[in-house]
Amino acid sequence: MYYSKQQLEKIKKQGEEAAKEMDRNKLGHEYKANDMKVICMHCKHDKFEYGKALLNTRGMTFFDIEWLNGAAITLVCKQCGFIHWFGKDVTQIEE
Ligand SMILES: [Zn+2]
Repeated sequence: MYYSKQQLEKIKKQGEEAAKEMDRNKLGHEYKANDMKVICMHCKHDKFEYGKALLNTRGMTFFDIEWLNGAAITLVCKQCGFIHWFGKDVTQIEE
């Protein structure tokens, strides 16, 4: 298959963009909860991996968190791995 120089440039650029996006995901993102920037409670890092944890197991009702609709938001610190739990959704801060 033959590509023109422009097409090759475009493919290269797309690849670079994809790599950049992957790097960003690897580094994590900044978030705010209730309009306050989330800072790691343990190491003060400010980049996290966003996740959702299901809590609707019978044991968890003991903690009276059924109001979470069975899910909580977790932000895992990219530096030390400390897991922060939120009962409301958090907002990603645009970079
Ligand atoms: Zn941390």
